[in-house]
Amino acid sequence: MIIKPRIRGFICTTAHPAGCSAHVHQQVDTVKSMRSLYSNSSAPKRVLILGCSGGYGLASRITAAFACHASTLGVSFEKPPTSSKTATAGWYNNRAFADAAISEGLYAKTIEADAFADETRDSVIETIKADIGSIDLLIYSLASPVREHPRTGNVHRSVIKPLGDTLNMKSVNVDKGEVHEINLEAASEEETLNTVSVMGGEDWEFWIDALQKADVLSAGFRTVAFTYIGTELTWPIYWEGTLGKAKEDLDRASKEISSRLDVLGGQAKVAVLKAVVTQAMSAIPVVPLYASLLFRVMKDKGLHEDTIQHIYRMFETQLCQDKFLRLDEQGRVRMDDLEMLDEVQDLVKQRWNLVNSENLSELADLSGYRADFLKIFGFGIDGVDYEADVDPTLANG
Ligand code: NAD
Repeated sequence: MIIKPRIRGFICTTAHPAGCSAHVHQQVDTVKSMRSLYSNSSAPKRVLILGCSGGYGLASRITAAFACHASTLGVSFEKPPTSSKTATAGWYNNRAFADAAISEGLYAKTIEADAFADETRDSVIETIKADIGSIDLLIYSLASPVREHPRTGNVHRSVIKPLGDTLNMKSVNVDKGEVHEINLEAASEEETLNTVSVMGGEDWEFWIDALQKADVLSAGFRTVAFTYIGTELTWPIYWEGTLGKAKEDLDRASKEISSRLDVLGGQAKVAVLKAVVTQAMSAIPVVPLYASLLFRVMKDKGLHEDTIQHIYRMFETQLCQDKFLRLDEQGRVRMDDLEMLDEVQDLVKQRWNLVNSENLSELADLSGYRADFLKIFGFGIDGVDYEADVDPTLANG
């Protein structure tokens, strides 16, 4: 079939197999063009990535494998293809990653299953024991709208809402290129608790508990989960909203986990990352407008990093160092230093007040945002023939 992007709101319901593969290979090439981190004594060698198939998780897996030569075990939740329907982009990404890693002699296995389920933890533990013995790094990069609680069976759905009062704020319709005001009702207490259950730290703790009990964590084991903080422009919808409550819970969990890892000389950290376009991020109202303004400013100043460049820098300057550097007062690793520079934020804030549908393309980088969004699903990648007839199941190569 000929596969074209089919966009519904903030999601693209199709993914291009050759495009996803090319996108993964582009990221692999980016990492291979950077300095190898392999000889660094703290470079991880056996890494588990939860949420390995896209965004920051995939970039972490690619960096661990191609900068550190690490064996990687990944977990992600995917929909496989049928002969008439494409798979999720992550399904194609997982296969492209495995091809690239295995062709270089690197161990790479992926378990496509619900990371919140205890059975998935059991299969991961079995696989670690059978194949690599133990892990020295766990990257926790799940972003999900729903979690079936493994102990109660209750299904929790996350919401992206403000707390306290209704929120009226500028946002952008990415498709139409129109700036408009959105109106978001405040979350109820139940909605907030559900969001904390899905995106907070409990599941991260369950993972570490299970892995530690099974004795598959190496001495000096480290684990990192990702958060976003941003500035007053996005606080009302993010840090001061339901997602912020979940991310606060991640901070709590990192302290809990760190104390449990003391016996191994290990630690857990939350890393604050910059805003980039991913499936999860594009679902958050307001943030696409902020990100388009941010990208324009950071690109003009030569400070922009895409997902893979940002994660490589995290490995180079933090994970492959003897200790975490640049910690804030909460003990979080700050990777958002460039985004937070006054020279960047002052300009973004100035433009935020001015931006409207007419001046959007001048003040913001909406076209860069759109291009990044399409790339997530394998579209708009140089060298890919989008008119070619392709088999979405990959059965014919
Ligand atoms: P993403 O949507 O690109 O990736 C999410 C991953 O989670 C995918 O691999 C998906 O398959 C996996 N996943 C979702 N539900 C799952 C389940 N039940 N079982 C197994 N796998 C599942 O998202 P992302 O933006 O890379 O987000 C990863 C983390 O980074 C999140 O914690 C997010 O808050 C954080 N973060 C993102 C940004 C940003 O701008 N994108 C900035 C800072 C922090």
